[in-house]
Amino acid sequence: MYFLKISFRKAESMTLAPNVYDAESIPEAARAEIDRLLQSGDLFRYTAPEDAPVALLEREFAEFMGVKYALCVSSCSAALFLSLKALGLPRDAKVLIPAFTFAAVPSSVVHADCQPVLCEVGDNYRVNLDDFKIKLETGDIKAVIISHMRGHTSDMDAIMALCTAHDIPVVEDAAHSLGTTWHGEKIGTIGKIGCFSFQSYKLVNAGEGGVMITNDPDVVAQAVIMSGAYEHMWKKHSGPDGQTQSELNEAFARWQNKLPLYNLRMSNLSAAVIRPQLPEVARRVRDGRSNHDYVAKRLNTSPWITVPEKLPPEERAPDSIQFNLAGMSYDQIGAFQNAAADRGVKVQVFGRSEDNARAFWNWQFIPGDMPDLPMTRAMLGNACDTRLPARLTKAELDVIVEALLGAADAVMKAKAA
Ligand SMILES: *Cc1c(COP(=O)(O)O)cnc(C)c1O
Repeated sequence: MYFLKISFRKAESMTLAPNVYDAESIPEAARAEIDRLLQSGDLFRYTAPEDAPVALLEREFAEFMGVKYALCVSSCSAALFLSLKALGLPRDAKVLIPAFTFAAVPSSVVHADCQPVLCEVGDNYRVNLDDFKIKLETGDIKAVIISHMRGHTSDMDAIMALCTAHDIPVVEDAAHSLGTTWHGEKIGTIGKIGCFSFQSYKLVNAGEGGVMITNDPDVVAQAVIMSGAYEHMWKKHSGPDGQTQSELNEAFARWQNKLPLYNLRMSNLSAAVIRPQLPEVARRVRDGRSNHDYVAKRLNTSPWITVPEKLPPEERAPDSIQFNLAGMSYDQIGAFQNAAADRGVKVQVFGRSEDNARAFWNWQFIPGDMPDLPMTRAMLGNACDTRLPARLTKAELDVIVEALLGAADAVMKAKAA
């Protein structure tokens, strides 16, 4: 009883650390559409003669991004896999990827029978251009995937200039970057293909799902067929106007019956959940950005915490914050994590947990020897990750900031004393 009373009084007088794992609720409009689908049982994207929810989503997403074609699939991993397949890469082709990304990225390369080559990433979480250039020019690289990891955009001007000069296609893994821009251009539209995720921890949440976008009719036609548009199902895919539509149909005719079917389609139910969220993107981006920048500014007041600057052409759309710990030993970093957890805030250090899927040494499924990547390894040992969903209030952000600043102080001032 006594303890209950104490905690009740505490809860009254202060904001508790927020639950950062809960998603925002799905817009009400999804409910009527899902009801309609449940009534009719029309869940397969290719049953309706036209305008199935998945087809409508593809048109809306392409228009939203300002590209000709979009293909909805079961995940961003599936979109990455289909992108590599649609580029026609030969077996064992080398694909350059950042060494700081989610395990789904090297996995999609392996799935496409290609060989991932890892490029160093600096302590600002962005591709190291010196290592990128050396590996691109000397590594027999046939394609590049740039992962905008946690929404951090690498120098796309330099990357595109190098890849264009060597005629190497770029796939953007923008899984976690919907709403980010580079010189005002939407991330995901800069490379030849862009891939996004609708998994629950991303900006648009359907539980699972993904989409790939491109202006290349040959790429999208192949991906559509391989995603599971068997027989003449591809006739239910369209371009934005007559010209693009006829280019698309010519490409479909070239690829008919020539490609395997991997069945990575999206269901109408997912599209019904996603479509009413597209109008919410601008707000989520705006709130996520202002939350991030507020927390970043306050964290940077600590002598032991640094939030790296974005590159000038980037406008980001964050739903989490990453920061580096400075001057802390291995043990002190562990103590910092514990002190933050005691204050209700979970901090993940990418390079510390044994099974972290963003630490390259845990990608032991990659064939060949694990490369030595000292720069990325050092970054992962100090880089912290805290979720910061756009829905948080200022009072909740303050709880997170105070917990992190307080934890750093507690660990480092105890050392000084
Ligand atoms: C989430 C994520 C993926 C994988 O997306 P899925 O839809 O779960 O396959 C790939 N890359 C990055 C950077 C991600 O954040």
